[in-house]
Amino acid sequence: MLNIQSKLPGVSTTIFSVMSKLAAEHNAINLSQGFPDYTCDPVLTDLVNKAMKDGFNQYAPMPGNNLLKETIAEKVETLYNIKYNPDTEITVTAGGTQAIFTALAAIINPGDEVIIFEPAYDSYAPTIKLLGGLVKTYELAPPHYTIDWEMVKKLFTSSTRMIILNSPHNPTGSILSTDDMKSLIKLINGTDILILSDEVYEHLIYDGQKHQSVMLFPELRERSFVIASFGKLLHATGWKLGYCLAPEMLTKEFRKVHQFNVFSVNSPMQQAIANYLQVPKHYLGIDKFFQEKRDYFRKLLGSSRLQLLPCNGSYFQCVSYNNISDEKDVDFSIRLIKEFGVATIPVSAFYQKSTDHKIIRFCFAKENATLASAAEKLKNV
Ligand code: PMP
Ligand code: GLN
Repeated sequence: MLNIQSKLPGVSTTIFSVMSKLAAEHNAINLSQGFPDYTCDPVLTDLVNKAMKDGFNQYAPMPGNNLLKETIAEKVETLYNIKYNPDTEITVTAGGTQAIFTALAAIINPGDEVIIFEPAYDSYAPTIKLLGGLVKTYELAPPHYTIDWEMVKKLFTSSTRMIILNSPHNPTGSILSTDDMKSLIKLINGTDILILSDEVYEHLIYDGQKHQSVMLFPELRERSFVIASFGKLLHATGWKLGYCLAPEMLTKEFRKVHQFNVFSVNSPMQQAIANYLQVPKHYLGIDKFFQEKRDYFRKLLGSSRLQLLPCNGSYFQCVSYNNISDEKDVDFSIRLIKEFGVATIPVSAFYQKSTDHKIIRFCFAKENATLASAAEKLKNV
């Protein structure tokens, strides 16, 4: 028997894989892992085919396809009126998760502290730990999951190296406001603390609210890695393509790691996405598309006993089942699959301490027929 020392002894298979597998085994409607059940635009898949036929089949440049980087710069300027230099400040990655890993690996040294807000996307804490960093956690509370920045300040020490933001937020659908950003600016003023801003749901924000990207605030932009994912924007999570925006000094460090953990990412898809995004309507208006789904699903759930939490962004809807059962959320989620045929994610999975507020998360990036069938089953809960 080989004697190896696990670098992540407390970690098992992610909740997303576990729930999707269980859903398949029990033939349940899968509203757990976040991905659409409809196809992406055929115009886009035709462009991938064309890119392959046109010869985009060998390594792309290490930081990304030039046309794609330029197109990302144009999209960012259109949306936020901010210029990022495609040569020195934009890197195309194998999805948001790789970009997060790479940014952390580029910055975090053993003993460095990183502040995260839980519930949190499940890759943050293990990645920090893998790098020898220490996770400092601020626990957000339902139903609004707001941040008291004075309490965040109490987590600061001389070893605080980075803060990870995520707005719109997975799993709660909460968003950061202008006041949040102003408080954060005050907090980090005069420090060397960096920010990793996970904005993979930037386009999924509802009711006319405006996404408060760190890009909009010069004091934040100058110290931030901004993470984006084409999986969300193009309804193609399996393509695993995204990008990182960061000032030149940070991008230099980012690329030192990027070139050795992937070197470069899928070439024909980069070329296809670049061509596809030449048409602004291909990235504008997806908030409306998802808002309709959110409203439809919330209306359907209104006739169940599940209690809806607010959803201001992302494609996730959380509900409380406090009034129905005192089971642990993991047990309740498993029972929902086995007895009612609907798969969800227990929100305790997003806390390192498995904090259980009796809340589960649904993904509503699904055909309306799928949402209607799921809601029909959930009426019996
Ligand atoms: N951050 C958050 C908050 C996410 O929900 C996800 C997953 N979709 C990612 C990052 C990773 O995105 P990708 O699938 O592009 O790796
Ligand atoms: N981000 C997706 C979710 O929250 C899933 C990502 C994954 O499967 N790793 O459901």
